[in-house]
Amino acid sequence: MSEPAMSEVVANLNLVRERIAEAAVRSGRAPDAVRLVLVTKTVEPSRILEAVRAGQADLGENKVQEGGRKADALAGEPVRWSMIGHLQSNKVKDVLRFADEVQSLDRRSLATALDKRLQSVGRGLDVLVQVNTSGEASKFGLTPEDVPAFLKDLAAFETLRPKGFMTLATFTPDETEVRRCFRLLRDIRDRARQDAPQGDTLTDLSMGMSGDYQWAIEEGATVVRVGQAVFGPRPLPDSHYWPGAAGTA
Ligand SMILES: *Cc1c(COP(=O)(O)O)cnc(C)c1O
Repeated sequence: MSEPAMSEVVANLNLVRERIAEAAVRSGRAPDAVRLVLVTKTVEPSRILEAVRAGQADLGENKVQEGGRKADALAGEPVRWSMIGHLQSNKVKDVLRFADEVQSLDRRSLATALDKRLQSVGRGLDVLVQVNTSGEASKFGLTPEDVPAFLKDLAAFETLRPKGFMTLATFTPDETEVRRCFRLLRDIRDRARQDAPQGDTLTDLSMGMSGDYQWAIEEGATVVRVGQAVFGPRPLPDSHYWPGAAGTA
């Protein structure tokens, strides 16, 4: 009797998991110390389901409408959705319909809008503070200098549970520059753990994507957001998701 052929998605997923575990060990941590958020933008629910059936629970979406649609399609599956893209305050109600975590918290007005809605529905939310470590004007996220004051402000919102930080590195194949971004985020986290009101709860570093997640883990990432390394290249250019990004993946 022959086993059914393993799908390409599952084979890729297993390979990425192996590389994540190896990079974690290289950075002096346990092989399971890093959480994989599988980024499903542009991917059809049937292919996402292959990964879910292979044990992948954490899924990430960049856009609210697309995320909501897929969450509906996968209703009842043991999955947890992270919002990882820029979030407009008027979409807060829609994002909270499906997201268990928002990694792209980048301004006070968004914190206010999230808190207001969360209060009214009586729940809390895990959040990561997005930081612009590349210094590129087109990127969302707080400047590193603004982080301490923002964390003080956040402490006033009872429904928001800040767990750490998220960043996108500079879009460049230059390893030194990409690692500089990751190291900067780690320094910001380490300083916040000492100084911020939330202190010890600020553990997460969400950094690293298909092209650079192994570097990110070596620099301390606790969460990586990977899509194309599992699902293959996207039909839409990254500029559709990130203003100012190059037209290629
Ligand atoms: C698309 C996306 C990723 C994953 O990128 P891949 O190249 O598919 O690995 C990570 N983070 C954010 C914010 C994204 O929008």
